[in-house]
Amino acid sequence: MEINIVKGTHDVFDDEARGFDYIEMVLKAVADLYSFNQIRTPIIEHTELFTRSVGESSDIVRKEMYTFLDKGDRSITLRPELTAGVMRSIVLNKLYATKDLPIKNYYVGPCFRYERPQAGRYRQFNQFGVESVGVTSPFQDLEVIMLGYDALRYLGFKKVNLVINSLGDKESRENYREALKNYFAAHIDEMCSDCKERFNINPLRILDCKVPSDHELALNAPKMRDYLTPSAKARFELITKTLDDYGIPYEIDDSLVRGLDYYSHIIFEFHYQTESGVDVGAIGAGGHYDSLLSEVGGPELSGVGIAFGIERLYAVMKEDNLLKDTEVKTDIYVMPIGEKAIEHAFSLAQVLRANAYRVEVCLENKSFKQLFKRAEHVNAQLALIIGDNEIANNEVVIKDLHTQKQVNLPLDNLLSTLDMMFNTEEEKHHGHCDHEHHECSCHHEE
Ligand code: ATP
Ligand code: MG
Repeated sequence: MEINIVKGTHDVFDDEARGFDYIEMVLKAVADLYSFNQIRTPIIEHTELFTRSVGESSDIVRKEMYTFLDKGDRSITLRPELTAGVMRSIVLNKLYATKDLPIKNYYVGPCFRYERPQAGRYRQFNQFGVESVGVTSPFQDLEVIMLGYDALRYLGFKKVNLVINSLGDKESRENYREALKNYFAAHIDEMCSDCKERFNINPLRILDCKVPSDHELALNAPKMRDYLTPSAKARFELITKTLDDYGIPYEIDDSLVRGLDYYSHIIFEFHYQTESGVDVGAIGAGGHYDSLLSEVGGPELSGVGIAFGIERLYAVMKEDNLLKDTEVKTDIYVMPIGEKAIEHAFSLAQVLRANAYRVEVCLENKSFKQLFKRAEHVNAQLALIIGDNEIANNEVVIKDLHTQKQVNLPLDNLLSTLDMMFNTEEEKHHGHCDHEHHECSCHHEE
């Protein structure tokens, strides 16, 4: 009996797996450029961590968490995002006391949200993100926004839409909340049942409602920017001015509030529309926070973070052909002809791998047709063919799969010939790191 995959989850293999790997590699390299270090936190956390950080009024906590009691009757939640776990880790490991500030971490891994599955929306998906904790300067916010912008450029995006807004400081938000309550109070009967609840716990959330009539209402609501305190306003203006100075285009969206309760000051989202007009929602998003660390038991330290959705990046990159460098490449496919040759092929493959060639070997008795089909499938450059004659003569047939030229070669000369064919040690190495010369970090001598 076949067993179905869980709704909203997906298997990632072949092209998609290579695409994910590539995306993660580029994102890690950019995080490295900005001097972030990796952190790995558990997938399961105490539920309380998310109710305290992501917030009781967020859709995530209200409707989307995978929460269960473990055998010891503890309420456990599969992480819906990674920021909270990173904060918990900073607090428990006292990183704020033992490390110089800021604490700069990047992470990558699966998240779980019980959402309605649709394009770009899964119940298990992967995020890559960074968090910088311990610096209040608005330049720290800018650094993370620019990291996000750079990451998308390195991934090959020509044009992305950066959407920003400021939620101000606590005082700004309290004033704004009052103004929103006054405004929405007159419309409460028209609002969806979710928004009626939002009205009481956090009226800012109403601005985020996707129900068309509520969205309409939100458009005419008071604007956060009119309620920013002078210092919050100055902070936001410094950020927009610096983005202008660096030629980074952005759009200010008054209704951008983001789905998590912990943000203050700048919040942002990166969007992208494919050439054919497909929009899978935000490909990356983040913001500044002031009381997240203290909320989970740490000191009052500000931070800023961004998280990208790997599935959404992959979807739009695939659509716009930005993943073309990720196909499989095999240097050599070793083909045994006949049962007896399998053992020879096996041992030859091991020798070649020990010499740093990427090798696939056939370990069964297959027809020529099947062998060449497989060679094509693994995108091999060369085939080494071994049959009874070759074994008897201590030879191998070497065939260039692009030119179709082939020669017999004494086994003793194989490695030196391969070295020549793959064009010196340097080229061989080059072939293995998959980088163009100018961007390769493998330090080959020019
Ligand atoms: P949305 O408004 O689309 O629900 P969000 O604000 O809930 O997004 P965040 O919590 O900011 O998303 O997560 C950061 C990124 O993770 C998003 O920009 C998106 O790329 C990705 N992401 C979020 N939820 C999902 C999901 N269910 N499936 C796939 N990717 C997701
Ligand atoms: Mg969401």
